[in-house]
Parts: sequence; structure tokens; C-alpha cells
Amino acid sequence: MGASWRGSLYALLLLSTWAGADTAPPVALQANQLHFISANAEFTLLHEMGHLLINELQLPVLGREEDAADQLGFMGLFLLAERQRDADFYAKLLDVADYWRLEWQRPKRPDEEVYPWDSHGLDAQRFYNIACLAYGSDPEHLEWIISATGLPDERAFDCPEEYQQVAHAVNWLEQHFRRPAATPIQHRIQVIYDQPPPSLPHGEQILAMVRASGELETVAKRASETFALPRGLTLRLTSCGADDAWYNRHSGELTLCYERLAHFQQLAQQLPRLRAGETQQINPAPR
Ligand SMILES: [Zn+2]
Repeated sequence: MGASWRGSLYALLLLSTWAGADTAPPVALQANQLHFISANAEFTLLHEMGHLLINELQLPVLGREEDAADQLGFMGLFLLAERQRDADFYAKLLDVADYWRLEWQRPKRPDEEVYPWDSHGLDAQRFYNIACLAYGSDPEHLEWIISATGLPDERAFDCPEEYQQVAHAVNWLEQHFRRPAATPIQHRIQVIYDQPPPSLPHGEQILAMVRASGELETVAKRASETFALPRGLTLRLTSCGADDAWYNRHSGELTLCYERLAHFQQLAQQLPRLRAGETQQINPAPR
């Protein structure tokens, strides 16, 4: 795949530091916060790509589409990373799980709350689901994920099997719906960047970061080449007035909102507190 979000974020940070006198000093985000933002931007994009593929390819879905999109998004991280499953990659999986933990624990307005009747799983469930799949992907080496996330043994026991089930389903879908090599690519996903609104803090920085990463183009190209898409589709980074992302199956447009990326930036500030809690779990204080 192309340049990683992470690399580009570092580049942007350096650029922002260098940008100098007449620009407002950027908020000094720490490296772990930058990793958190890029990991979750990537997961959001891949979750929405899951909706796109489900709808465009008419993938069979058992269970809720939102759960399937999370699973497709999670496995998308593995597909994009290919063989590079190093410490950075596993830290990325923990960043994605921890986003749902922060979201779960964050006080919310009534209109932000996820209710039991919602089509989405509760934030706490999405946290444990991702933690379970992450641990289950390599239980021999990733036992630390159990301590870092507090995943109870009752769930952890079956996570290797859960991961195998999801990996099997995604492999099957990829094989079954793959574009035959001899078939020319007829339809592609085009990427459009709208300007961020001037009112959005760090809007220009976010745009520069995403553009420089090439991530949207990489994902759009990979999907267009792997599958025979039935029509031309669009992936748009835009301002939505809300921290959101969605796939519109009528218009064939995937929307990623600037506000969602800004929201990750906000939540990233809670990471030190959260991670301090994790350290306590890993090394409980002597009694
Ligand atoms: Zn969704």
C-alpha cells in the first residue's frame, strides 16, 4: 500500500512546527495521539467501505449490517497491512479498540447516545468486539491485549475462534466476489476533497494530512481493482456539521466528515488518562 497515515502525520507535525511566525501554533499532539487519530480515521474509512461493498456487491450478510461492517473494517486493516504485522500494527488495533472505550465512557448528550434499539452495537460492545478480534488474531503473542483492554476471560477464551470465523468469511467473500483477472476494470471509486469550513479548528491541517497520506486513494484503488463494481462511486471528504461518516447506497457516495477526524483529535487528549488505567491493570499495585 501507499504511504501510511502515520508517516504523513509525522510529516505534517514537522511541517506545522516549521510553518512559523504568522501561523497560530498548532496544538502539540503527542506521537501516541497522532497514532490514535490516524488509526481511527483508517478504521472509520474501512468500516464505511464495508457498507459500500455490502451494498454494491450485494454481499450476503448474516446478523446486523453494522456488525458486519465493523468486521469488514477490522479485516480491512489486516488486508492493507499485508504482511507487516509488527508492534506498530498491533498498537493500531489497540488504538481502534480504545476509541470505542473512550466513546463508551464519554458523557454524551441525549442525541449522541447509542440506544439498545439502535442498528449499531453499543460503544462498549464494539470495544469488546474489536479487543476480542485483535487478541484472537494471534493469541500466542497478543495476550497483553487481554490485560490492556480488560477483556474478561469468559469472552477471551473464544476469541481465537471468533477471529478465525471472521477471517474465513472475509477470505470467502474476497475470493467469491473477486474481479476475474481477464475482466477489465469498468468502474472506479473517485476521491473528492471538499474544502474544510473555516470555522473547523485544524480543518486545513486535517485536509493536508489526509491528502498527504494518500490513504483515500489507496483504499479506493484497491477496492476498484479487487472487485467488479457495478457503477462508478465516490469517496468524499467533506464537512457535515456533525462528527459522522456514512455510505449512501442511493447516490453511491461514501462520506467522511472533517468533524469526525476532529473528534478523534479531541478524544485523543483523553488517551494518557486511559492508558494510565491500562498500566495499572497490567501492573496492579502491590497490596
Ligand atoms: Zn456503519
